[in-house]
Amino acid sequence: MNLDPIKEAVRQAAKLCRQIQTHSLTSSTKHSKEKGYTEPVTLADYGSQAIICRALSQHFPDDAVISEEAGAQFLELTDENARAQVFNLLTNLLDVNVTQDDVVRWLDFGSGRDDAQRTWVIDPIDGTKGFINLRHYSIGVGILDADGQPVASVIGAPGYAENMAEEGGAGMIFYAQDNAAYAEPLAGGEATPITVSSRADNGDVRVVQSYEKSHASKSRMATVREKADLSEAHIYELDSMEKYALVACGDADVYLRLPNINSTRPHMSWDHAAGVALVHAAGGKATDVDGSPLVFSDGRIMPNQGMLVSNGVLHERIVAATQALLAEEAAD
Ligand code: AMP
Ligand code: MG
Repeated sequence: MNLDPIKEAVRQAAKLCRQIQTHSLTSSTKHSKEKGYTEPVTLADYGSQAIICRALSQHFPDDAVISEEAGAQFLELTDENARAQVFNLLTNLLDVNVTQDDVVRWLDFGSGRDDAQRTWVIDPIDGTKGFINLRHYSIGVGILDADGQPVASVIGAPGYAENMAEEGGAGMIFYAQDNAAYAEPLAGGEATPITVSSRADNGDVRVVQSYEKSHASKSRMATVREKADLSEAHIYELDSMEKYALVACGDADVYLRLPNINSTRPHMSWDHAAGVALVHAAGGKATDVDGSPLVFSDGRIMPNQGMLVSNGVLHERIVAATQALLAEEAAD
């Protein structure tokens, strides 16, 4: 499989995101199909997905797609002016005349195909809250094989900087292909193979986690670090699946994602498929809270309880620590 056209689409999508972020950032609230959760959505979410799905329709016309946004919702949540803005930006960026019909067709491309050999799992802007607040965000494209295993991916990380918490980095594209992982500057340049770190000493270890309090429980994750003998670890908080990329390239060693204790919000496959493929290809581990595999074969919603992601060396320690936390919580 040649990922070049998808890497190019992710670059174009990142360009569109930056244009919208600088010139015309407004957001609306969408109600997700899953049990009435609301999420912010911007014109860039639709534009980014349109660009990626257009490339898929051209280069992988028989494949299936699971994606966060949809054509009907785009028409419902945007007014005529906003839509015209998207068509203009896409027309300039893609150098073809883009109509409303095109955008709706691209947004829905590949949905509802159950018997495809390959499924693309797309989050056109992961970390929309970060995007809106000028923090980190990612453009995530994961690829599942016929068994629902994440085997390849492309992740655009426009805010990537070597000093993790910094803003305004030059950005990077991370990708996984044929069991190997690579990083390539977003602005173009050579791809470099990446692998996970081997850091394991309390005090050296770098842990990444969500910035948004509502997305994961900071206190539960602090308890896990303590129980894993990582109480001195450096903590970096940032939005989006860039956290998976940071573990894959060795900038970070652990990514914990434990939901708030009474959260009923499911984990969505587009938030994780691309990241899990990348971390596996870079030699790391990404599992559920008990060390069992993350499950992508159920469609949009994952049945898992949380995500433990590591360089591999630390994995048993964080699984055991998480199990100890869960046992204590169950006894309370
Ligand atoms: P992050 O940037 O890693 O905090 O995660 C971003 C993703 O978290 C978004 O794409 C949302 O799908 C997801 N999300 C939003 N609200 C919640 C929530 N209450 N619990 C868990 N995940 C959430
Ligand atoms: Mg997301």
